[in-house]
Amino acid sequence: MARCRICHRPMSNPDHIAAGMGPVCAAKAARQADDRTAVYPRDRYDRILRGLEKLAGMLAQANAYDVWARAEGTATERAEAAWLKSLISHWYARAQRMEQHARRLLHRAA
Ligand SMILES: [Zn+2]
Repeated sequence: MARCRICHRPMSNPDHIAAGMGPVCAAKAARQADDRTAVYPRDRYDRILRGLEKLAGMLAQANAYDVWARAEGTATERAEAAWLKSLISHWYARAQRMEQHARRLLHRAA
């Protein structure tokens, strides 16, 4: 039985057997090869991406809070919601610019 030369799991797909490894190991190897030629560190890009996702979640929450505060909140709650929304929007826009910049560097290297 043919086995993946990386993880040694058995393989049955003829394409994978011809490649010498399974699809998961092939993807990992391709990514590692890409990392070696990348000018921009992939782990830093992944961190930016995770931060961006987190901020998107926070922004959605701030928007929901703002909608609620405008409809039912006190003046203090409305002010707090507006402030939170503008603060998180600012950081989200900054993170988006960082991600775009990092992505361009990644793709230039690839
Ligand atoms: Zn494998």
